[in-house]
Amino acid sequence: MSKDETTQSHFIRDIVVEDLKSGRHKEIRTRFPPEPNGYLHIGHAKAICLVFGLADEFGGRCNLRFDDTNPLREDLEYVASIKEDVRWLGFDWEDREYYASDYFEQLYDFAVTLIKKGKAYVDDLSAEEIRTHRGSLTEPGQESPFRDRSVEENLGLFERMRSGEFEDGAKVLRAKIDMAAGNVNLRDPVLYRIVHASHYRRGDEWSIYPTYDFTHGQSDSIEKITHSLCTLEFEDHRPLYDWFIRELEIYPSRQIEFARLNVSHTVLSKRKLRRLVEESHVEGWDDPRMPTLSGFRRRGYTPAAIRDFCSRIGVAKANSIVELALLEHCLRDDLNRHALRVMAVLNPLKVVIENYPEDDEPDELEAINNPEDETAGSRRVPFSRELWIERTDFMEDPPKKFFRLAPGREVRLRYGYFITCTEVVKDENGEVVELRCTYDPETRGGQAPDGRKVRGTIHWVSARHALPADVRLYDHLFSVENPNVTPEGGDFTNHLNADSLEVLTDCKVEPSLADAEPGDRFQFERLGYFCVDRNSSAERLVFNRTVTLRDTWGKIQRRRSTP
Ligand code: ATP
Ligand code: MG
Repeated sequence: MSKDETTQSHFIRDIVVEDLKSGRHKEIRTRFPPEPNGYLHIGHAKAICLVFGLADEFGGRCNLRFDDTNPLREDLEYVASIKEDVRWLGFDWEDREYYASDYFEQLYDFAVTLIKKGKAYVDDLSAEEIRTHRGSLTEPGQESPFRDRSVEENLGLFERMRSGEFEDGAKVLRAKIDMAAGNVNLRDPVLYRIVHASHYRRGDEWSIYPTYDFTHGQSDSIEKITHSLCTLEFEDHRPLYDWFIRELEIYPSRQIEFARLNVSHTVLSKRKLRRLVEESHVEGWDDPRMPTLSGFRRRGYTPAAIRDFCSRIGVAKANSIVELALLEHCLRDDLNRHALRVMAVLNPLKVVIENYPEDDEPDELEAINNPEDETAGSRRVPFSRELWIERTDFMEDPPKKFFRLAPGREVRLRYGYFITCTEVVKDENGEVVELRCTYDPETRGGQAPDGRKVRGTIHWVSARHALPADVRLYDHLFSVENPNVTPEGGDFTNHLNADSLEVLTDCKVEPSLADAEPGDRFQFERLGYFCVDRNSSAERLVFNRTVTLRDTWGKIQRRRSTP
């Protein structure tokens, strides 16, 4: 990836620059720490670009670490998808693939250290009792009656918790900090829970599992992470992580928080995305309407466009919602430069050119593959007596400003000839089923020797050579800007857009697409950018519309910049 993609300045970068300058660190080390309980989304992309981007820029290293402390939700499927997505985005963790579950012994020893120092105790209160003892923002919490157990008793009980002697929830290990602390995270937080469940990597080895809070900071410390970057919701947890580091006297990683990315018209929470999948509102984690990286990939988004987006939104301390239109703008920018142009007709209407010879030898017209990229060259598209054009490119009774085809009107066929509509053929219901036209053989290539002009140019596909295809058109998954906001008692799924998917099954595409492979991206001229779906085959081509050609973001920006 090019250097300028990552050199956007922001407050975290400034801290890194300062720490390197002052000699506080010779080399920085960051990490991306997903929990393998879902697929990565565009919010994770922001975090990935930040942590890998800083390491790349300053010659440091970034680890990939799975924070896998919850046996009930985690799975190898998620590990595999996360690795695939990080790689696809363009980042490389080399051999630095770590798992918090590999630190379970070390974390257990940390807990024992705290017990021995009189800083942790085994509590018999239930989860519910612990919650009610916790107090509130305005009231202090209440101390547990088990808080003053002796070190020996605590060591014995904790060991028996580990050996599986007690039932789920019978006991927990808690830190002994301060039940009156202003920060509720410091009110004797739970460090270990009893969970008799198989862990996807550790199997049945453990019947106690450390909490996220007891794992995250120490895992950073074990890996000697210099700058531990995370989202704002962990700001209030930082005093707790610092307390662990102090009490355990281990390497002090510095945690710095930044704002989560929110994008309009979608949700970016794994819990909500999982519900969409489990309740079949979408076809899976990689449904092209999902804001997951696998969804974007299947839809035809490019990693470069997503990195560009992450660089443009920057890194700040204040939460906000970024318009999806900006991401689409970045995407068009990239696809415009790289996608090959082809012709496809989504809603076909037959055109018969009456004065064109009924020939077996097709006329091959030269078509430019990408006007933005000379090296992309050109191709030959077959022309013949019967064509498909877009139904919306014809009107029987057009208004004045309609410059496409209508009875008696002449248009240019892209890369082809001028044609004039001479007759409209209808079925018994009055529906237009075919147009009869004539062509001017002198206009091959799109110019008339007599200099006469036509206002409209339309795309087409030769009927005899066309390949049938399904085309899937997508709209916003949610019909409102912020689906997280629901009227009282409502659910975010109430905001799902019922028209987010439209499947067209009668599309015609030019024959050059016969060899298109899943993942290939094209511009269908005048229609938008499209990507071959993973379910596409030589028998049945299937395309996803990646994005239309209309740049709403560019328009918004122009409107804002004109006073
Ligand atoms: P969710 O709340 O959707 O379940 P998470 O934060 O629990 O997400 P993790 O797997 O813990 O998901 O996330 C890994 C990393 O990605 C964390 O460092 C987290 O801060 C970051 N991250 C997650 N969501 C976003 C977001 N929307 N914007 C920026 N960073 C994010
Ligand atoms: Mg998390």
